[in-house]
Amino acid sequence: MVIGRFAPSPTGPLHFGSLVAAVASYCDAKSQGGQWLLRIEDVDQTRKVPGASEDIIATLKRYGFAWDGDILYQSQRSELYEEALSRLREQNLVYPCTCSRKEIADSSTRQGIEGAIYPGTCRPFPIKPGMSAAWRLKTEHEVIGFEDAIQGHQQHQMATDIGDFVIKRADGLFSYQLAVVVDDALQGVTHVVRGADLLQSTTRQIYLQKSLGYATPVYAHIPLVLNEQGQKLSKQTLANALPQDNVKDTLINALHFLPFLPKPFPTFLSLSDLWRWAIDHWQITNPAKTTI
Ligand code: GLU
Ligand code: ZN
Repeated sequence: MVIGRFAPSPTGPLHFGSLVAAVASYCDAKSQGGQWLLRIEDVDQTRKVPGASEDIIATLKRYGFAWDGDILYQSQRSELYEEALSRLREQNLVYPCTCSRKEIADSSTRQGIEGAIYPGTCRPFPIKPGMSAAWRLKTEHEVIGFEDAIQGHQQHQMATDIGDFVIKRADGLFSYQLAVVVDDALQGVTHVVRGADLLQSTTRQIYLQKSLGYATPVYAHIPLVLNEQGQKLSKQTLANALPQDNVKDTLINALHFLPFLPKPFPTFLSLSDLWRWAIDHWQITNPAKTTI
C-alpha cells in the first residue's frame, strides 16, 4: 500500500510553491492507487499564525484535494515525540546541551552543510542543574546515503557534514526533524514527495529512522518554485496567497511547472477532469538517470 502525505506548516496561507508540492505528492500517491494524508506541522508553536491551518485546509478543499483519514496535528502529539526521545536516551544516543548560539559560534571550528558544526562541548558532561537544555542526537563518522527518485544519489558524512543536531529545543519544543520522522513512521508513510528545500534534511531523517528502528520511505524532492529574484517562495519573500477564484487555471500552472506530465495538456472541462487526467498520466522521472 502506497501512503503519501502533504505536511504544511501553518505559518501563513498556501502559496504557489506549496501548491506545487501538494499536487506532486497527491498525483504520486493517487497514481499508484495509494492514500494521501494531510498533516498540519504546527510543532513549532512560536511560528504558528492564528487561522493559518483553517485557511490551508479550506484552500486545499477548494482546489479539489481529497485526503484520506483525519487531519493530524503535530501540536497534539508531544507524548509520541517524548516517547521517541526516551528510546534514544535509553540507547545513549542523545545528550543535553546548554550551549548558547553565541557559545557555539565562538567555539565551532568547522563548517557543515548548514553553517557552524556543533563542536560537541556538552557531550562528555552531565546536565547543569537549573539550566534548561536542548537534546542533541550524537552523530558518528557514518555515511548516510539514499537514492532520491528525482535528484538521484545523495549522501552526507554525518559527523563532518552535519554534526550532533538538536531534536528537542531548550524551550521544550521538539524539532521538525524528530517530529517528521516519528509521524511519517507512525502514519505508515511510504512515499515522501516534497520541495527540494528539504533535500538536505533527509539524511538526518534517515539517521533518526535507523536509530529508532523505523523503515525509510521513498523520497522524491521536486524542483523549487523561485520568484523573479531567484528566491524560494515563502512568507519571508512575500509570496502571494493562492487565489480563491481561477482555481483551474492556477492548478494548470502548477501542473505545467512539474516536468512529470506529457505536454501539451488537453482541455480540462472541470476540476475533476483535470485531476483524473493528471493522476492517470503522472510519471516521476529521474533526470540524473536519463542523461548519458
Ligand atoms: N512542514 C514542512 C514545510 O512546510 C514540510 C515537511 C515535509 O514535507 O517533510 O516546509
Ligand atoms: Zn552544548
